Amino acid sequence: MKSIADLSNDDGSWNTDLVHDVFGVPLGDKICKIDRLPVDHNDILVWKEAGDGIFTVKRGFQSIHPTQDNSDSSFWKLIWNQSTHFRHSTNIWRLVSGCFPTRDRMVFVADKACPMCDVENETALHIFWECHCARAIWFSSPFACFGRNTMTMTTVKDMLQGMLTCLPNDLKGNFLNFLGSLIEGVWRARNELIFKGKRINIEAVRCAILRKYNDCLLAGEADSTIGMSIKQARAGGKITSATEVVVVCDASWKEGEAGLAVGMMETRGKKICWFAKKTKAESAAEAEIKAIRWAMDIAAKEGYAAVAIASDAMIHYELYHILSWLDHPLRVLIFVRPPRQNNF
Ligand SMILES: [Zn+2]
Repeated sequence: MKSIADLSNDDGSWNTDLVHDVFGVPLGDKICKIDRLPVDHNDILVWKEAGDGIFTVKRGFQSIHPTQDNSDSSFWKLIWNQSTHFRHSTNIWRLVSGCFPTRDRMVFVADKACPMCDVENETALHIFWECHCARAIWFSSPFACFGRNTMTMTTVKDMLQGMLTCLPNDLKGNFLNFLGSLIEGVWRARNELIFKGKRINIEAVRCAILRKYNDCLLAGEADSTIGMSIKQARAGGKITSATEVVVVCDASWKEGEAGLAVGMMETRGKKICWFAKKTKAESAAEAEIKAIRWAMDIAAKEGYAAVAIASDAMIHYELYHILSWLDHPLRVLIFVRPPRQNNF
């Protein structure tokens, strides 16, 4: 006897005698009072954990990872908010999800000691919060307000949630950008110590972290200020029929060296040309500005009067620079922002 069908007649009703034999008369009577589905009713698959009974991959994932259910959605929304740089969001997500390759997670690494202090085991919580280098950076950071109570947290997520709870909403994005910059800076210093034997210079690590953090702040301001100001200089935010050429520009930056790339496509002739060069820049943000400026110069030199420029640089506080460029020989200038990319 394996299923309900074994206790049923051919017409789909209960086989009362058999039910009584198996379960006894009192319980059997109760069972036989249960309404049966019509025999021609087809079976359907139902995902019980969803109100509509429909299974999706996301629902399946949530059921086997109950800690990442909907109750966490506001936390993750904050982490993946537009105001946090995509690369920082990714690193914070890796840290919270336990996929950052600290020594405690590397089964094949026998020596679990933190290479920066050689006292505690290297965990994400230790290296980015508790180790002396991390503590010094947090202490001298714009977010030095967190007392020792946060140091009693046992997981990265608890730590992060605790810190975010203490912050006003308008500072949470900045905080996550700072944390992302700190993760990068400390991890780079840790790797240079392990693989190149380079001693940790906390002040240098701190300066590098603050520089990256400032780049994020400048980029964020660009989002809110320039986006609105330039809107007036462009027709409905669209590439107009007057546009002769569409220009895409981007920049890479590392330790004072910038690589600029400009691509141009005529809207009518479909002529395409590419330009690239190396130059000096103090920061990733400056490199992005130089790429835009260079794109405008090339367009003017090539004789175009109306140009649309697409750049994922979120141009910043130097608003007057941009506005002064409007006196450039170019007659029409349109800024188009493609989706965010991991560009600096
Ligand atoms: Zn340590």
